Amino acid sequence: MKAVAVFPKGREVKVIDVPEPRLRSPTQVRVRTLEVGVCGTDKEVVEQKHGKPPEGEDHLIVGHECLGEVVEVGEQVKNLAPGDLVVPRVRRPCPRAECTPCRAGYSDFCVTGEYTERGIQAAHGFCAELFVEEALYLHKVPRELRGVAVLTEPLTIAEKALREVAHVQTRMPWEKKEGGRAVVLGAGPVGLLGAMALMRAGFQTTMYSRAPKPNPKAEMSESLGLPYVSSKQHRVEELVKQRGRADVVYEAAGVASVGFELMKALAPNGVYVFTGVPGSEEGELDEGELMKQWVMNNQVVLGTVNAAPEDFEAAVADLGRFRAKWPGGLERLITARHPPEDYAEVVTGRKGSHIKDIIVFSRG
Ligand SMILES: [Zn+2]
Ligand SMILES: [Zn+2]
Repeated sequence: MKAVAVFPKGREVKVIDVPEPRLRSPTQVRVRTLEVGVCGTDKEVVEQKHGKPPEGEDHLIVGHECLGEVVEVGEQVKNLAPGDLVVPRVRRPCPRAECTPCRAGYSDFCVTGEYTERGIQAAHGFCAELFVEEALYLHKVPRELRGVAVLTEPLTIAEKALREVAHVQTRMPWEKKEGGRAVVLGAGPVGLLGAMALMRAGFQTTMYSRAPKPNPKAEMSESLGLPYVSSKQHRVEELVKQRGRADVVYEAAGVASVGFELMKALAPNGVYVFTGVPGSEEGELDEGELMKQWVMNNQVVLGTVNAAPEDFEAAVADLGRFRAKWPGGLERLITARHPPEDYAEVVTGRKGSHIKDIIVFSRG
């Protein structure tokens, strides 16, 4: 079968032919890949800044944002049947007995760093015509979400963040109101999905992103009823003047300088969520000012990565709600679909579109 793999030695990514995977235990499921989303993490994997092939292999099959269709189930699998649509989780637990998060089913909080991640870290991904997975790591998706469920995994980042924010804010027992104000930094897929999740949760949300208006991301934002403010045209102080300070800042740009600059927009008792992983940057931070702001305002700065099983369930449920709230909105986030042969050009941006690129393996 066809697969897309990166070969670290030759520094290349290409379509290869590999044997079809088979069930090796009664708890496994064989899945036909329908679609795989491409994101910044994939770019880092291809550029070998992040991730590695499975132990003893010279290549890694890429892809972690996947939608597939069940074709075969092991005899002990009761909750799935052929024809079901499924989204796989990405991270698998480390083998250490002392890692309590992994042993409790929360490998997203693994403390040893010895976890694997399909398509990223020492485990093959989903950019292949078929894959085999334990039923435990698959989430069933309703048929009506066929066209958009490939967005489940990037949405889980926001679901986990919102769950953590809600948990942190139970520190304010008097605070009963729904939502508050939110600012999202970066109008890429993670930012736009995050904004939709925040709006759905009742936050009055603003998108703050680099490109001056007009541009396709601003149009996309505004079509969702999400005001768009360009960071090139408006400094953080102006953003605050226009939109007020934010109870939640959701950073999804991966640029440290503007990420920290936006700290000024955080309201007292607010939570700042970082989701982006920056490259190396030279910066000038006023550490004293930041420390004072955090202490004097009871603020929480939170980093988040990966997601738990309940975040995948929440993401699937939210995709259904988003479709009802913004008809056609999720569909417009997917700005291009490509064949596997174009993977290298899509991931490096030569053939990439302006929001979300998807690789299509099967139209079934
Ligand atoms: Zn991704
Ligand atoms: Zn662990």
